[in-house]
Amino acid sequence: MSIEHSQTAFEKAQQLIPGGVNSPVRAFKSVGGIPRFISRGEGGYLIDIDENRYIDYVQSWGPLIFGHRDESIENAVIEAVKHGLSFGAPTEAESELAELIISIYDSIEKIRFVSSGTEAVMSAIRLARGFTGRDDIVKFTGCYHGHSDALLVQAGSGAVTFGTPSSPGVPADFTKHTLLAEYNNIESVKKCFQDSPGIACVIIEPIAGNMGLVPANKDFLSELRAVCDQYGALLIFDEVMSGFRACLHGAESITGTKPDLVTLGKVIGGGMPVGAFGGRREIMAHLSPEGGVYQAGTLSGNPVAMAAGLASINKLKTNARVFNVLEERAKRLMNGFAEAAAKHNIGLQTDVRGSMFGFFFSGESVTNFAEALKSDTARFAKFHAAMLDAGFYFACSQFETGFISTATTDAMIEETIAAANKIFGEL
Ligand code: PMP
Repeated sequence: MSIEHSQTAFEKAQQLIPGGVNSPVRAFKSVGGIPRFISRGEGGYLIDIDENRYIDYVQSWGPLIFGHRDESIENAVIEAVKHGLSFGAPTEAESELAELIISIYDSIEKIRFVSSGTEAVMSAIRLARGFTGRDDIVKFTGCYHGHSDALLVQAGSGAVTFGTPSSPGVPADFTKHTLLAEYNNIESVKKCFQDSPGIACVIIEPIAGNMGLVPANKDFLSELRAVCDQYGALLIFDEVMSGFRACLHGAESITGTKPDLVTLGKVIGGGMPVGAFGGRREIMAHLSPEGGVYQAGTLSGNPVAMAAGLASINKLKTNARVFNVLEERAKRLMNGFAEAAAKHNIGLQTDVRGSMFGFFFSGESVTNFAEALKSDTARFAKFHAAMLDAGFYFACSQFETGFISTATTDAMIEETIAAANKIFGEL
């Protein structure tokens, strides 16, 4: 396949934009090679500027659960655009989307919209601190909650310790209130509570997608709830990735553990930049202008983004079986990969939650970040490059999650398994 135009575009972009990209994860750094510059999307396909066609398992990192250019979402956006792009004043669409999400998520009684996942989490943490009057927070190694200073803490393997900044530019002082625990390990959480004078909240991806796909155990989550209750700390489910991706009613509906606050993003914007956080009425009442915890955004609740979100979530709500269909397909893909890998004596761990899927090149099961890091990343890089070359677009890191959309047909999945089988044989 020729990627001449992508190559030229990347060279130009590198002169103008740091690393040639506006978000590091799309730079193909961990797998090498040239990021494809995209011309357009069509359903389950992505087409680059050299007119190469790929079956798209990234789907804009999650938002496009109905694939590219879904007609109803596209029409909703076009209609909204005709009324104006932004007002910085309230619109009815904001309440409509709020009402819709509140009707679907048991734990959300009030919600506020923002423009990204980072903002949603940053604001939820501030609210938790304002509500409890405490400073410390607990996060898990391997979980990603956006790039705000206090949450950009190095995913040190295993040890429960005070965090250290993971990026130059983040003063150590800014992360000294961020405590790290190990995913799926309740003892590590208890240790944080013993060490800290006051923990405002524990934030977790209940279905982690940022160390590859690693769901939390049900028992672990219910113990986590109990520990938070014992110490009066809030439990925040960061569902920026898993929300409306794993199932309709949130991780709480499949794990049985109810959080105090939930953060959302991706699908609720139908492809437009949106985030949100919501939870119990009494907690949300602390938010400005009702309460004293300040949080704001000039473009928050943007009418075009609300229209895309409404079209997207309404379509999910009225198609009750959509998550069963997506999960069946994702399972077929992962089972196909697992069988093919076994045939070629390649250790591969696979998992699926709704439309999210993940595979680790590892002989051992993966339940936390330390175990995820044991994966063979060199093998992943070879697999990624060969699949890309064959027309299959997967996330460019071993530690990301894959997504299928309703536009990813059974035939596309069979085609992908056949290609993976061939490539496993050559690894
Ligand atoms: N939380 C989670 C769980 C995420 O997956 C992400 C982004 N992948 C974020 C927060 C940050 O969202 P954004 O990139 O929209 O700021």
